[in-house]
Amino acid sequence: MSENKDPHVAQVAQGVKFVYDFTEGNKDLKDLLGGKGANLAEMTNLGLPVPPGFTITTEACKVYLDSGEEPAALRDEVSAHLDALEQKMGKRLGQADDPLLVSVRSGAKFSMPGMMDTVLNIGLSDKSVQGLAKQAGDDRFAWDSYRRLIQMFGKTVLGVDGDLFEDALEAAKAAKKVTVDTDLEAGDLKKLVTKFKKIVKAEAGREFPQDPREQMDLAIKAVFDSWNGDRAKLYRRQERIPHDLGTAVNVCSMVFGNLGPDSGTGVAFTRDPASGHQGVYGDYLQNAQGEDVVAGIRNTVPLAELERIDKKSYDQLMRIMETLETHYKDLCDIEFTIERGQLWMLQTRVGKRTAGAAFRIATQLVDQGLITEAEALQRVTGAQLAQLMFPRFDEDAKVEQLGRGIAASPGAAVGKAVFDSYTAIKWSRSGEKVILIRRETNPDDLDGMIAAEGILTSRGGKTSHAAVVARGMGKTCVCGAEDLEVDTKRRRLTVNGTVVEEGDVVSIDGSTGKVYLGEVPVVPSPVVEYFEGRMHAGADDADELVQAVHRIMAFADGKRRLRVRANADNAEDALRARRFGAQGIGLCRTEHMFLGERREMVEKLILADTDAEREDALKELLPLQKADFVELFEAMDGLPVTVRLLDPPLHEFLPDITELSVRVALAESRKDHNENDLRLLQAVHRLHEQNPMLGLRGVRLGLVIPGLFTMQVRAIAEAAAERRGAKGDPRAEIMIPLVGTVQELEIVREEADQVIAEVEAATGTDLKLAIGTMIELPRAAVTAGQIAEAAEFFSFGTNDLTQTVWGFSRDDVEASFFTAYLEKGIFGVSPFETIDRDGVGALVRGAVEAGRATRPGIKLGVCGEHGGDPESVHFFHEVGLDYVSCSPFRIPVARLEAGRAASQAQGSDHR
Ligand code: PEP
Ligand code: MG
Repeated sequence: MSENKDPHVAQVAQGVKFVYDFTEGNKDLKDLLGGKGANLAEMTNLGLPVPPGFTITTEACKVYLDSGEEPAALRDEVSAHLDALEQKMGKRLGQADDPLLVSVRSGAKFSMPGMMDTVLNIGLSDKSVQGLAKQAGDDRFAWDSYRRLIQMFGKTVLGVDGDLFEDALEAAKAAKKVTVDTDLEAGDLKKLVTKFKKIVKAEAGREFPQDPREQMDLAIKAVFDSWNGDRAKLYRRQERIPHDLGTAVNVCSMVFGNLGPDSGTGVAFTRDPASGHQGVYGDYLQNAQGEDVVAGIRNTVPLAELERIDKKSYDQLMRIMETLETHYKDLCDIEFTIERGQLWMLQTRVGKRTAGAAFRIATQLVDQGLITEAEALQRVTGAQLAQLMFPRFDEDAKVEQLGRGIAASPGAAVGKAVFDSYTAIKWSRSGEKVILIRRETNPDDLDGMIAAEGILTSRGGKTSHAAVVARGMGKTCVCGAEDLEVDTKRRRLTVNGTVVEEGDVVSIDGSTGKVYLGEVPVVPSPVVEYFEGRMHAGADDADELVQAVHRIMAFADGKRRLRVRANADNAEDALRARRFGAQGIGLCRTEHMFLGERREMVEKLILADTDAEREDALKELLPLQKADFVELFEAMDGLPVTVRLLDPPLHEFLPDITELSVRVALAESRKDHNENDLRLLQAVHRLHEQNPMLGLRGVRLGLVIPGLFTMQVRAIAEAAAERRGAKGDPRAEIMIPLVGTVQELEIVREEADQVIAEVEAATGTDLKLAIGTMIELPRAAVTAGQIAEAAEFFSFGTNDLTQTVWGFSRDDVEASFFTAYLEKGIFGVSPFETIDRDGVGALVRGAVEAGRATRPGIKLGVCGEHGGDPESVHFFHEVGLDYVSCSPFRIPVARLEAGRAASQAQGSDHR
C-alpha cells in the first residue's frame, strides 16, 4: 500500500466497521452503504418485508481498490454477519440438504443501472442443488438456478465470455426443438450445468468453486472490481459521478420469483415517472427472476394485472408504496419479488423521472403538504428545465406513423436508422444524426446510446435498460414498440410490410411513444411559449407542465439573491431576454455591430494613414453605433445595460490573408493593380499575430487606435441623452475589456469621462454613466484591489480567464485534446463549461474580496459562458457576486439555479 493511502490503514487499525446488517443502517448513509444498501436498511427499519442480509461498505471497496487487497478485518466481519444471517434463516450458506442462498449485488452512492456486477444464487453446488430441489419440490427450478449461477459467476467473476454460455443454451434449445428457456426440463438443465462447468474449466482454467464461502468471497471481490470496469467508468464520466466513491456490496438472502405461477417479480413506481401522475405504474412478470424484468427479455404485464393474479400481494404492495412515498416524500421506484404468495421488497430508491415529471411532482408534493417550496426547488434542476425548452414534433404535420411503443424518455428525435452501437458512433462522428434501434439494449450499448439522438427498442417496458439509461441521460427514448420487427443482423426493421433499412430517416417521439417514417418537423416547446409570453400559466386550459414550471420559477425568484442579466447585442435578443426574466444586459459585445456592411468602415479606420482619414472613418461609424444603442436602451428601458467597448483583434475585420494574397497576386499577373487591395494586404500583414487572443485586442486597441474608444463612448452617451430626451430611463454602463493593470483603465477612463462631460454639457443632462472593467486576465484578478480604484464595477470574463489561467486556447483545445483529458479523469467536465473552482474560481474569489475591500459598494457580475451553467451559478452565489449574465435562452436556467443556490445555502433539505 502506498504512503498516501495511510488513512485507510489507520481506519482498519482503529477497528472501523466495514459490514452493516440491514437492521443497522438507514437511508442517510448512502456514502457508506451505497444507495441500495442504505434504502434496504431504511425499509427494514420501517418494518417492510425485506429479505435479511448485510452490506459491505464503500470504505472496504476503497481500501481494496487502493491497495489491491481487502481490508484485513473484512473476512472476520463478513463471517460474523454471515453467522447471524444463517441463524436468522435457520440454515447455512450452501447447506447440502437445505441451502441458504444469497445474492451479491453492487450498490454505489449514485445509481448506475446495469453498470456493475451482480451474482445471484450463491451457495449452490453439486450437492446443495439436490437439497434445493427437495426443499422446493421442484427439480427443474433447482437445476435452472444452478445453471444461472454458473453462467453469471463464470461471466462476471471468472471473466468467461458470456456468449459461450448463451450459445450452449441456444444449442440445448435447438436440440430439443424448443424456443424458450422455460421449455427446457430438469434433465436438459442438468446436462447444461455439466456443459457450463466444462466451459468454466476450459476458459478460466479452474473448476467452478464448490465451496459456497469461496463463491461468496470471489463474488464480493468481483463487485469491487466492477467499479473500475470500462462500462462503469464511461457511465460515471457521462453522469459526472466522481471516480473515487467506490461501491458497496449487498449480500442478501435469496427469494425466488421463479417458483411457479404463484411467484413472480416486478418493478413499480409510486407515480408515473413520465408525467408525475399518481396511479399504478409498473411491470410484473410471473414466474421469473428479477433480472428478467429489467433486461426486458420476456414481455411483462402492467402492474395493475397483479390485482387479478394475486390480490393479497397486490393490496400489500399498494400499502407499502404509499408508506414509502409518504416516508421519502418523493416518487420512489421499487423492485419486488413474490415467492409463493409472499411479497418481498428487494429495492427502493427515490426514482429517476423525466424533466417534466420532476416539475410536476415537485408542485404536487407541495400541494399535498409533503414538502416545502424550498424543498421543491431542490427536486428540479436547471438541466431539466433546459431539457424542457427543447422543441417538439409539430402536431399538425403530415406524418407516416410506423408504430407505437412506450413513451420512455421525452423529446423529439430525428435521425438515420442504425442497428448497432458501432455504426451509431461511426456515423455520428461524421456528423450524421442517428437513431439507435435495437430489440433491447444492454450496458454494452452505452457508447451508441450516447452517440444517438434517440433510442428505439422493440422490447422492454418503462424500466428496461434502454428506458432507465436514456432518462438518466435526458435522451429521447421509445421502447417496447412490439409491432416493429427489428432484425439487427440484416440491419433493418419491418412493420406491417414496410421495411426501414439502415440509413432511412425515422422520427421518434419520446413523449407519446410514436414512431414515424421520415423527418417530422419540430415546433417550440410549450415551456418556451410560456416564457415568450405566448402561453399563460393562469389560463383555464393551461398546460399542466407550464403551470408547474411557472410556480417553481416563482419559488426560485422569491428565494434568489443573484440577479440575472443577459448577454445580448441587439434589441431583438434584449426583448426576448426581458421576456425570459432578464434584469438587465450584462454584456453587449459591440464588435457584433461592426460586421456585415459596416465591416468596410472598420477597414477604412484600420487603413487610415492620416488623422483626418481616421476621423472621417470614425465619424461615419458614430451615428450607426448611436442608433444601435438607442434601440438597445429603449428595449431595456429602466434596466442596466453594460456596453463593452471593442474587444477582438482587428484582423477579424479584415479579409482572410490567403484569399487576399491570391487576389493581389492574380491582379498583378494581369498588371491590374488595385491600390486598396495592396494597402489592405499590407495592413493584414502588419496586424497578423501568431497569438491574436494574446495580442492587440481589448483595452490595448483603445490605447493604440486614437479615437476608437472615445467614438464608442460618445455614441453611448449621446444615445443615453437621446433616450432621456424621449422620457426614457436608460441605464448604460461602460465596460473596458482585457484590462491587466489599473493604468490602462485610468487612461481610458480619463478620456471617457471627458467625452461624457462634453455630451452632458451639450445636452444639459446628467447621464450617470458608470465605468467599469472586465476581470478576465490573471493579472487583473490578482491586482483587483488596485483596479477597483478606477472601476465602478467588475464583470468577470471567465472565458478569457479560463483560457489564460490554464493556458488553454479557448478556440482549439476542446476539439483537440480534451477528450483525452476527460478520459484520463484530469477533469470531469471542461473548465470552459463549468467553472474550475480551485483555479479560476480562486482568482474570482480573491478579486471579489479585493475589489470590495477597495470599493465596498462595487457591483460584481460575471458574463462568461459560466454565467448560464448550473454548477457555476452556485459558485457565483457562494462567492457573493451581485449578478450572472448569460445568453437569453439560459436565463430561466440561471434564475432557477440562483434560487436553488440561495435556498440550499439556507439549509433546506437537499438530497
Ligand atoms: C469572457 O472572456 O468571458 C467574455 C465574456 O468575453 P468574450 O467571450 O467576448 O471574450
Ligand atoms: Mg473576453
